[in-house]
Amino acid sequence: MTTLSSKLFAVAKQHIPGGVNSPVRAFKNVDGEPFFVRRAKGSRITDIDGKTYIDYIGSWGPNILGHAPVEISNTIHQVAKDGISFGIPNPFEVDMAKTICEWVPSVEKVRMTSSGTEATMSAIRLARGFTKRDYIVKFDGCYHGHSDSLLVAAGSGALTNGEPDSAGVPKAFAEKTIVLPYNDPETLTKLFEEKGESIAAIIVESYPANAGLVFPKAGYLELLSSITKKYGALLIFDEVMTGFRLGKAGVQGLENLTPDLSCFGKVIGGGLPVGAFGGRADVMDMLAPLGPVYQAGTLSGNPLAMAAGLAQLRQLTKGVNGSTSGPNGFDRLETLGQHFETGLRALMEKKGIPHRINRVGSMFCLFFTDREIVNVDDVMKQDMELFRKFFWACLDKGVYIAPSPYETGFLSLAHSEADLDETLTVFEDALSEI
Ligand SMILES: *Cc1c(COP(=O)(O)O)cnc(C)c1O
Repeated sequence: MTTLSSKLFAVAKQHIPGGVNSPVRAFKNVDGEPFFVRRAKGSRITDIDGKTYIDYIGSWGPNILGHAPVEISNTIHQVAKDGISFGIPNPFEVDMAKTICEWVPSVEKVRMTSSGTEATMSAIRLARGFTKRDYIVKFDGCYHGHSDSLLVAAGSGALTNGEPDSAGVPKAFAEKTIVLPYNDPETLTKLFEEKGESIAAIIVESYPANAGLVFPKAGYLELLSSITKKYGALLIFDEVMTGFRLGKAGVQGLENLTPDLSCFGKVIGGGLPVGAFGGRADVMDMLAPLGPVYQAGTLSGNPLAMAAGLAQLRQLTKGVNGSTSGPNGFDRLETLGQHFETGLRALMEKKGIPHRINRVGSMFCLFFTDREIVNVDDVMKQDMELFRKFFWACLDKGVYIAPSPYETGFLSLAHSEADLDETLTVFEDALSEI
């Protein structure tokens, strides 16, 4: 059947490489073609052929209130009347910086960017400038955006497309990035014993969520913290995905840790293009114009993006029933997450399909394997064919999960218990027919 989406995709492919502006959207890993979106509202997304899906991607993380929340749409309309970009300071930037510093105790100062990629790229430049060392350490399967130094053994689209390294990244750059297996304290300790004095920083996804959703072993994050301290390196938490999604202070708040620098994005932009990096004031003050580490951005701190992000953060801390006390948005997301996890576990048990389920708050991942999920190697060993069939059966029945087994699923405040139950019924039907 020729759909409007497939016709438009044919045109897109003539003018855009692969027809998409970010590789994971191409549905390559499920051997198919994407649909084009007409509109999205709340928990639902509608394609240009008029079919509506319950959405578990939420623009890959930013849409924690659901699609087109009225609080954010109204804010954007209102703010845009007074101007769209100024290239000179505006009050929203200060409000945003103050909010981040108040919510995340490790962040004393923060600089805004326009994407998560810029945030991590700038954070490692800053760490190198501050320590006057060149090497950085990252972990296999952790995705930190697509800058040269970080696109080495990365997750997300890089994994999906089977290209852990990108062409066009000079060997000399990649050599300054040391890649270690995640959750392996011995290898890490050995590396620091040999090379610790020349390592600028460890960068880590606070909970790796771009190659499935993987949790640190007990004590692992503490080891990252103590070993960087011991050798005078910096610890950079990439909370682009987890920040402002898993509570006011992200994973560092949950785990009670104090990284030197942190990177943010996604949720703080309210769906507009935003990133941020921040941390210790003595490190952040190395940035231009105060210090010698250069970093800039024409649209950084954009008033629309700042106002949209602030509106989103305000909604998250509001009481769920409009009251200022009692459970807030984060508590509600945990309740929804528990509801979904309980139902999903029961379903998978009933079906007798080997599986693992990792979940925290509103983030979840179903793996078609019974291996313990310690790192990306375990994630790669799931039943990919089963996943592919499951994906298409769900899509057909009106549930849109990520078109790749390496992605985390997201719930939003717009999802209701009824949505989740409907989804579990779709999952059951899908598993029955494949
Ligand atoms: C999405 C993501 C990035 C990159 O952010 P962009 O805005 O896509 O550039 C970096 N790190 C993590 C952990 C991410 O999930």
